[in-house]
Order: sequence, then structure tokens, then C-alpha cells
Amino acid sequence: MQSTMMDVPLSLTRLMLHATTTHGDARVTTWTGEGSRSETYAAMGERIARLANVLRDFGITGDNRVGTFCWNDQEHLEAYLGVPAMGAVLHPVNIRLFPEQIVYVTNHAEDEVVVVDGSLAVPFGKLLPQLKTVRHVLVTGDADLAAVAADGVEVHRYEEALAAAEPAFPWPEVDERQAAGMCYTSGTTGNPKGVVYSHRSSYLHASGLSRGDVLALSPLDRVLPVVPMFHANAWGLPYGAALVGADLLMPERFLQGAPIAAMIEAERPTVAGAVPTIWNDLLRHGREHGADLSSLRVVICGGSAVPRSLMAGFEQEFGVNVRHAWGMTETSPLASIAIPPRDVADDEERMRIRLSQGRLLPEVEYRLIGDDGGVVPNDGTSLGELEVRGPWVTARYYQEDDPAKFHDGWLRTGDVGTIDELGYLAITDRSKDVIKSGGEWISSVEMENALMAHPDVVEAAVVGIPDEKWQERPLAAVVVREGAALDAAQLREALSAQFAKWQLPDSFTFIDAVPKTSVGKFDKKVLRRRFAEGDLEVRTLPHE
Ligand code: ADP
Repeated sequence: MQSTMMDVPLSLTRLMLHATTTHGDARVTTWTGEGSRSETYAAMGERIARLANVLRDFGITGDNRVGTFCWNDQEHLEAYLGVPAMGAVLHPVNIRLFPEQIVYVTNHAEDEVVVVDGSLAVPFGKLLPQLKTVRHVLVTGDADLAAVAADGVEVHRYEEALAAAEPAFPWPEVDERQAAGMCYTSGTTGNPKGVVYSHRSSYLHASGLSRGDVLALSPLDRVLPVVPMFHANAWGLPYGAALVGADLLMPERFLQGAPIAAMIEAERPTVAGAVPTIWNDLLRHGREHGADLSSLRVVICGGSAVPRSLMAGFEQEFGVNVRHAWGMTETSPLASIAIPPRDVADDEERMRIRLSQGRLLPEVEYRLIGDDGGVVPNDGTSLGELEVRGPWVTARYYQEDDPAKFHDGWLRTGDVGTIDELGYLAITDRSKDVIKSGGEWISSVEMENALMAHPDVVEAAVVGIPDEKWQERPLAAVVVREGAALDAAQLREALSAQFAKWQLPDSFTFIDAVPKTSVGKFDKKVLRRRFAEGDLEVRTLPHE
């Protein structure tokens, strides 16, 4: 029997119109380093209509791609809301990719217009001659435009173009299955791969993110996405906040501990999201200089595993609740979140659950596939590769075949872990980072966490290095707190409480900083390469 309900599309057009009318009094505030600039959603709605007219005059219709090359700020949000709303496709380019990757993704996505942050005009201008499909560039702020020039490309000032455009736009009704936006993975191996989100998937994801079992967003919230809008859509925070009429606070390029602390004190966000590297820096800053983080009711953290030291430090020293989440560009990205069940009385048990990757959301079906290709039980101990499927999970990559990533209609996440009877996922590693020693597996993530729990360790990454006898052995790359004296033997001793003897690393290297990817994750590929090239000074203890 068919339902009697209307078949009206779920769309970002609707989301944008709702945000800028019904929630017209909400505000977007952009940090400027010293202070901030702010605009109501209603005023932004008019600017979004002007932007849509500018883009239409440039010939953007249907599914043409509009790239952005921006920090998180008001203008980026205008493109986020306006481009999909007019039926075109938004492509936020990761400004931290290597230049050849930026050229690759812009050409691959065939971006025709790019909105460029004035502060990035110079680096963007250097690449522009290689961007084959770009016809128009809109530069925000009052940057010098001389640096942005190429044959066949018209360069405009964003503000001037908006001022000259009509403040109303005939918003279309788009098909909910149409592309709304695209993001590329950060390409830790090979070229970045494109994921194309639909209006429906983005709308559902925004609603899911806002729900009580995730962030419980409301018009009373002030949401601070520190996670860049070019990294998996800032985890959906801009769309989630716009949908419910929460204020958005944009950190622009001020992403270090000190300016983030200043922004939090001045603007009093209630919700914020970023990868552990950012929060670690804020924690360090807060410890050294003090910080008032009391406005934050929840901080969402993911992208890589949240170390216990980070979660405990925020809670005990600043009263901030860090909520661990897991996801991928391919999953929009939010797929799981760690909120303990209501009846866990024991503090240690609560902490264990909060440090897991949490429960998968109802929209994300899951299963673990064992070594033999069969589904393993969700018993909290059986290890397998996580596979997921659902309405906001990608079914393929944009114009690229990668059959190894898909399996009978499921996405292979490349993450290995366990799931317990209550559905809590614990990721022990990325499959390519697992250390295989003597036929057994050592979790690099667990060992990193244990190392980072040491008060004199700032950060630590563990990678497998080839070993004749054991196939692979762990190498711990450790950053020691300035002024502290800590040697390899002490570190191994500290680990011995938590790890079996055969798991303990014999090799240690002391480095100034763990290399990071363009989205702030530990770049183990670089560590492995530096080791292979003999570029790391390794101390090897006798095997016990
Ligand atoms: P990239 O794949 O380019 O690094 P993504 O942000 O899409 O960019 O990365 C997704 C991957 O990040 C996941 O497959 C997983 O390995 C890792 N990840 C994300 N969140 C977590 C988390 N909470 N704990 C551990 N790993 C995580």
C-alpha cells in the first residue's frame, strides 16, 4: 500500500530558506584575531540571494561546480548555503593539500567558479594558471588582486559583485537526489577521491547531527566549528546549526590554542568541534595561561582517536565534556558518537565507554568482517574490519573506480575494531596501521594513548617497522615535554603495566613534532618513510 504523504524533496534550498527567515535573528560571527564581525542570518539571506545572482550571471546553472578556497568564515557559509540552494554543487577545496593535489581536485571536480579568501589570494593565484576549468574567481576582503590572474579567467571582488547584484533570487525546487556538494578525502595514499553528497543526504545528516542522541542542537546554541569547512563539510556543523537556527561562530585562520581560547572567552560557544590536535593545543594553552571554557556544554572530537589524557584533562581541569565521534568523508562524516548508557555508575567504566568510538547512528548500519571474509559477532572482543551502509554513506567515488573499497553494497571503512553487545564500536587501528608482530596484532592507537598518558609526553605515534624475525615491530616516535628528561627505558617501563612483554616496543625515536596530514592527523606514512630513509635517530633497547 502506498502512503498518502506528499513527496516533497528534502533539500538544502529548504534548509537555507528556513535558516534565513524563521531563524533570521540567529547570527554568524567571524573572529578577526582581536575581535569579531557579525551578521544576522536574515541579512545573510539577502547576501546569499545576491551571490546566487552573481553565480547565475557567470553561467552557473544546474550541476556546475563552485569551489571554495577559504577558512571558516561568514563568506564561506554564504557559499555553503547559497550554492546548493540554487541547484549548483559546492566543492570546498582543502587549502592544506599539497599544491599538486589542489590542482588535481579542482580540475577533477571541474570547478568553474572559485570563491577565494582574500588572505589566501597569493597561494591560490600561484595555482590558478593550472586550474583548467575555472572561469571566474571571487576574492573576499580587500586583498591585492594583482596576484590572482590567468588567461581566460575573470577575477572579481566578492563584495563588489554582491553589491551590484539583485537581493532576491528565484530559488528552484531541486530533486533531493541531486548533488549538493562534494568533498575529497585527504588522500593519505594516492590522489584524493571525491565523494558527492546529495541534498537528501546532507539534509538527513544535518537533522541527525542536531538530534538529542548526538548534539541536541537548538536555537539557544552557539556552535563553533574549528574543524575546517573543507574537511568533510566541517562534520556537518554549519548545516546542523543553520537547520535549527543556532548561532555559528567562525574561527577564520586563528586556530592555535591562544586565539581559540580568546574567541571562546569572548563569544561563549556552547558546542564546538575539532580534531584532537587542536584540542590538545587548547588544553596546553589553558594549563599554561588559564582559560575560561565554561560556556561549552559539549565538545565533539574525532577524526582520529581521542586520547584519554585529552578527555580527562578537559573534564577535570576545565569542566568540559568531550564527546568522541567517528566518521569519514565517505560517511558525510558523522557515523557514531560515544554517549554512555544511562546506568553506568562506575567512573572508570564510563570513561572506557566514552573513549570508545561510540554507538553507530540509526542511519548507519554496520557489520564487522573477519579475516576469513565472514561477519564476526558483536561481542566486544571479536576483531574485524568495519563495513557500513546507509542514506548518508557514499556508494562509490566520483568518476573513479575503487572496487576494493566496496563490498556487496557496503562501504569498507579500512578501520579495524570490535563492537560490543550494546553496539559500542572500539576502533583499534586503521587496517594499514596495525602492527603485525609474530602473527599477532598490536594496536598502534592503544600504544599511542598509553604513551600520551605519560605526563612528560606531548604526543606520540607508533608505527610498524620491518623485522626479520617478527615480521614487524613497533617503533614509538615520541615528543617529550620541553625541559623534561625521559628516556627509552623509562617509557618502555611505563608501558609495561598495560602491554604484554612481546608487545612492548624496543625502538624509540625522539622527535620535535609528529608529522601531520592536511587535516591534522598523525601522518604515519611520513614517519615510516623517514624511518626507511634512515632519517630518524632510533634508540633500540635490548629485547626483554
Ligand atoms: P582521510 O581518510 O582522508 O584521513 P577522513 O577524515 O575521511 O579523511 O578520515 C576518516 C578516517 O579517520 C577513518 O576511517 C578513521 O580511520 C579515522 N577516524 C575518524 N574518526 C576517528 C576516531 N574517532 N577514532 C579513530 N579513528 C578515527
